[in-house]
Amino acid sequence: MDAQHDVLVVGAGCAGMRAAIEAFDAGADVAMISKIHPTRSHSGAAEGGINAALGNASEDDPETHAFDTVKGSDYLGDQDAIEILCREAPGDVYQLENWGAVFSRTEDGRIAQRPFGAAGAPRTAYAADITGHVLVQVLYEQVVKRDILTYEEWFAWKLVVDDGRCQGVICWDLLNGGLKVVGAKTVILATGGAGRLYTGTTNAYSCTGDGMALALRAGVALKDMEMMQFHPTTLAPTGVLITEGCRGEGAYLLNSEGERFLKDYAPNAMELASRDVISRAEQTEIDQGRGIEGNVLLDLRHLGAEKILERLHGTRELSMVFMGIDPIHEPIPVRPGAHYHMGGVDTDAWGQTSLTGLYAAGEVACVSVHGANRLGGNALMETITFGKRSGRHAADWALANTTVTVPEGVVTDAERELKALLDRRDGERPWKIRDELAATMHENFGVFRREDQMQRQGQIVDGLRERYERVVVEDKGDVFNSDLTQALELGFLLELAEAMVVCGIARKESRGAHARPHDFPERDDENFLKHTLVTSVDGRPRLDWKPVTMTKWEPKERTY
Ligand SMILES: Cc1cc2nc3c(=O)[nH]c(=O)nc-3n(C[C@H](O)[C@H](O)[C@H](O)COP(=O)(O)OP(=O)(O)OC[C@H]3O[C@@H](n4cnc5c(N)ncnc54)[C@H](O)[C@@H]3O)c2cc1C
Repeated sequence: MDAQHDVLVVGAGCAGMRAAIEAFDAGADVAMISKIHPTRSHSGAAEGGINAALGNASEDDPETHAFDTVKGSDYLGDQDAIEILCREAPGDVYQLENWGAVFSRTEDGRIAQRPFGAAGAPRTAYAADITGHVLVQVLYEQVVKRDILTYEEWFAWKLVVDDGRCQGVICWDLLNGGLKVVGAKTVILATGGAGRLYTGTTNAYSCTGDGMALALRAGVALKDMEMMQFHPTTLAPTGVLITEGCRGEGAYLLNSEGERFLKDYAPNAMELASRDVISRAEQTEIDQGRGIEGNVLLDLRHLGAEKILERLHGTRELSMVFMGIDPIHEPIPVRPGAHYHMGGVDTDAWGQTSLTGLYAAGEVACVSVHGANRLGGNALMETITFGKRSGRHAADWALANTTVTVPEGVVTDAERELKALLDRRDGERPWKIRDELAATMHENFGVFRREDQMQRQGQIVDGLRERYERVVVEDKGDVFNSDLTQALELGFLLELAEAMVVCGIARKESRGAHARPHDFPERDDENFLKHTLVTSVDGRPRLDWKPVTMTKWEPKERTY
């Protein structure tokens, strides 16, 4: 063992840092592992804001927030977890403010809140359109202030499981090379999402679903893996995000005929309907020939230069840099892009998984507060509230228990496996498989899903997994061997894709992000008001189901 801690947090985005701070404050010896510098985590890319019922812009309360979230989830969210999120959110946002988060302000100096999709009240606190950047900096300051150790540029590759408990992590040291073993009484996965499964994605290159795959390999179940959210406003072809904050500030979506087409899909909420509804509307317009080169248009012009420059300056810059378009003068071409994984590691409301000592929080986890469709602004809130809760529980557990064992065999097995991969001299390059995976997931497991396409995707992923067995890492070196880590990430992505397809085929209904207009166009509460659960048996996914927790909201038809 190279080091040992009470609590080891894998990932240093909003969820990981918030968890580490809480564990530290609870008295635990805590460290973080991150494959990139903490402030480069994808959380820093969040633009639009964070949801809490502060009631600053109009009347609002946690109960309304909870109902909006339940409805937004298409009733697949667990209502006990949603109630916790909405109840603790205001206090958690004020805590961030007290730590120095520079939220935008109302005229009278309170935290300003903008309207966001499917929210009954303006509820999204924001710092212009760089909210994530601000939160990451503030949390990092708190980490530095507490002198919390970060194993930076260490790649977590395997969990150590001994005696039915998670007792540490085996990492590859990116800077110096070599395997490092860190023992811990509790491990919190906070590794973020897996958008890189798709070609057009808003997610950073680091979002490869590592923690989900680590949990799956350790025998822990993944929940609702078919639920990948497509964000309605991303730039072609890269998938760079144009924030929902634009629509929150009043931007229109237009088709090639210059019509605000949402009148036909969500006549009340229009551009502020939920993301699944808008992405489907856009895709329908594009498929029926009312798009413009595969896009629709996001029109900000009527907001005026002053508002755009004050509240959406980052968006203007992105659109000028990536599209050569100044939204003050021209509409921005946008299309749906893979954005957020509602699914993830199955946890309870304290972040605990079924494996003692293993926790998960943030996008890697599925508590589940987002169910089949996440509301914009709820993800950042989840990272903070459930980061805090898992940090607290993991610390309490660690402080009440003493031993950590990392059996020698676990380490020698890992060394042998790594050597076999690096010793391979010929075979296929990982990037080819990765590109094929991302392109076919986009084609066959996108906004709309068809049985035949999902079946085909299952076979494609099978084939890619076979080819992956012969993948060759050309860089044999120790220093910044990103060739190696990208190959390992690809292995993770392939297993997650397989899990997603299995769940997608099994869910024979349309709910939230899972839309099957051709064979099962309706939501089917009688048969499918339940979570999918996937565990790995001999490296292959096994599907189970788990009931949804209801507290006070009966499923109703969902219209906006
Ligand atoms: C462009 C964009 C804009 C968004 N805007 C908003 C918004 O306005 N409001 C909102 O609520 N949500 C938004 N979201 C969603 C939200 O930002 C994310 O869900 C959330 O920030 C994820 O935080 P996280 O801490 O779980 O993961 P991340 O911030 O992605 O951090 C993951 C961490 O895990 C580490 N890691 C991963 N794998 C490994 C490994 N194998 N070994 C070691 N370390 C590892 C990384 O180094 C990183 O530190 C947005 C998302 C995107 C992509």
